[in-house]
Amino acid sequence: MKPVRHIPVGAAVIGAEERAFINECLDTNWVAQGKFVRLFEEELAAYLGCRHAVAVSNGTAALHVSALALGLKEGDEVLVSASTNMASAFAMFYTGAVPVPVDVERDTWQMDARLLEGKVTRRTRAIEVVHLFGQPVDMDPVMTVARRHGLRVIEDCAEALGARYHGTTVGTIGDLGCHSFYANKIITSGEGGMVTTNDAALAERARQCANFYYGKKQKFMHEDVGFNYRLPNVSAAMALGQLRRIDRILADKERIATHYRRRLAGVRGLRVPVTRPWAKPVLWMFNLAVEREFPLGRDELMAQLAERGIETREAFIPINRQKVFLERGLVKDDDCPVANELMETGLYLPSGISLTTEDLDYVCDAILSLA
Ligand SMILES: *Cc1c(COP(=O)(O)O)cnc(C)c1O
Repeated sequence: MKPVRHIPVGAAVIGAEERAFINECLDTNWVAQGKFVRLFEEELAAYLGCRHAVAVSNGTAALHVSALALGLKEGDEVLVSASTNMASAFAMFYTGAVPVPVDVERDTWQMDARLLEGKVTRRTRAIEVVHLFGQPVDMDPVMTVARRHGLRVIEDCAEALGARYHGTTVGTIGDLGCHSFYANKIITSGEGGMVTTNDAALAERARQCANFYYGKKQKFMHEDVGFNYRLPNVSAAMALGQLRRIDRILADKERIATHYRRRLAGVRGLRVPVTRPWAKPVLWMFNLAVEREFPLGRDELMAQLAERGIETREAFIPINRQKVFLERGLVKDDDCPVANELMETGLYLPSGISLTTEDLDYVCDAILSLA
């Protein structure tokens, strides 16, 4: 039987301002580069409270140019949160650097900073934290280890635009912050990304790298091997419209998180992530772990929900379990036991801002009926 409802895991909501800005690009013919790129950069930097923002074509490109701006290269090692979208690891690997997975905390799903010190070797150059599912990583201990060993810090904020750590927005604490505006992220331009930093030299390098490293005196004598990672004006126009509504978007996201928490937090065998007192998370997707006390396993729960028209996704497969890294002998599959456990027990629920209270109750009722 076909389910009567369909609740997608996420869906972009495009407003009138985005449409008006995009139409302005079309009407004026400024479709590639144009004023919306600069405006979006300026307003995102102002929103986050940092000096520089460089727009790029997607979040993976933001991570790649960040790695290059820091001079990462073959033989270097980068300590990365084990549980993440593989873009975090791939982008480092593009430079020849090896992503070294660091296990996560069971209750927050975030990088366990206590494990960093033990992973530092002579080759370690950087730490890449991932603010996963919109929760900030505990940055103070990360920065302490970084300072002690002279490491640079990249923050992958693709899922966490607007999240705060001790009141400071993520993406402004380490050397570089990387943001994504893919369709399912907090704000979207379809595809899009941004590098944020307070360091003018890093910003300049990221900007040049994303734009072919054109020569300053002689344009076509390139200063280095560059990439075309530019964000089109049309996309920036869409992102700017979204950014101007971000407070409302985040409030809607919080409504969804609060609803799920209120109805699911006490359920035996379901574990919702803990928020530390210093954390002001944003909701990317509502994640939870299905533990042994729950009558169904994670996969069975997902299948039962799918039969009711409710889309879910399983937790990320960690870096140390990816065959491309295992085959190259770069990781060991039992390296990060907590990330491995979350891979088996974790999932995320529909979290798009168009979900109504009725939709949320439909999802929660379905889960409770199986509990
Ligand atoms: C989405 C995502 C990325 C990649 O961003 P794209 O814009 O899709 O390239 C990187 N890291 C994390 C944690 C993500 O969720």
